[in-house]
Amino acid sequence: MNNEKCALCDQEGLLRNSHIISDTLFDGTYDQLHRIMPIHEGEETQLRFQQQGFREKLLCDKCEQKLSRWENILKKELIALDGADTNRLEIIRENGKKKVTKIAYDEFKKAILSILWRMSICKDPFFTDYKLSKEINDSLKKAILDESKVPEQTFALIVTRIKQDDEERSKIIALFNKPTQLKEYKFISFILYGFLFDVCVSCEIFDEKLHEIILKEDGSLTLNEKNLLELEITAKLDSNLNSERVRKFHNLE
Ligand SMILES: [Zn+2]
Repeated sequence: MNNEKCALCDQEGLLRNSHIISDTLFDGTYDQLHRIMPIHEGEETQLRFQQQGFREKLLCDKCEQKLSRWENILKKELIALDGADTNRLEIIRENGKKKVTKIAYDEFKKAILSILWRMSICKDPFFTDYKLSKEINDSLKKAILDESKVPEQTFALIVTRIKQDDEERSKIIALFNKPTQLKEYKFISFILYGFLFDVCVSCEIFDEKLHEIILKEDGSLTLNEKNLLELEITAKLDSNLNSERVRKFHNLE
């Protein structure tokens, strides 16, 4: 039997057919035929339905289990951030923003970083435009493998809940393949499970205003909530969002 090397721990062994993005984060976005349609910055004609999710032989059993444990915790936190589980987190409303505490920082952040890393290193042609530099990939891998917490300033993470039709969580899945510049920082962004995740990939965040809104090691977060069309980054999706096919699939007015 051919053994291969696990992309994360580098040990040789049997590899699992690993998720690039866990199916659990697509809940609520499938159509009746159990299809999803992630949108992106590219041409509308490149969009395709996805029925099997994204999988690739990537990780050994041990690493696979580690990542799926983080993803399960991430999902539970997102359900709570969405307001559907009121027991898990402490959320106080303040000037249109939600001040959240008690987030499982380590698992939440590592789950997000591991998704970014997998999109970058996988061979699936869908993610061809999502390749980060070797230097960033190596730092992501190191952060994921490290037993200790990733410092809040390293790969700083901003989380925004995306609304659609008043208060409801948006069903859009969007992958942005080009970095966004915010002040002197470079962010890679994606929308999954109705939340926009902006991960800083340029350097540590020392800007005070930005530092206020990133996920903190003590499990606190200022959660912004915006309509999809209010977001600046949405302009990058114009070619997709103006398409009849996309509007119909996502029930956009
Ligand atoms: Zn492994």
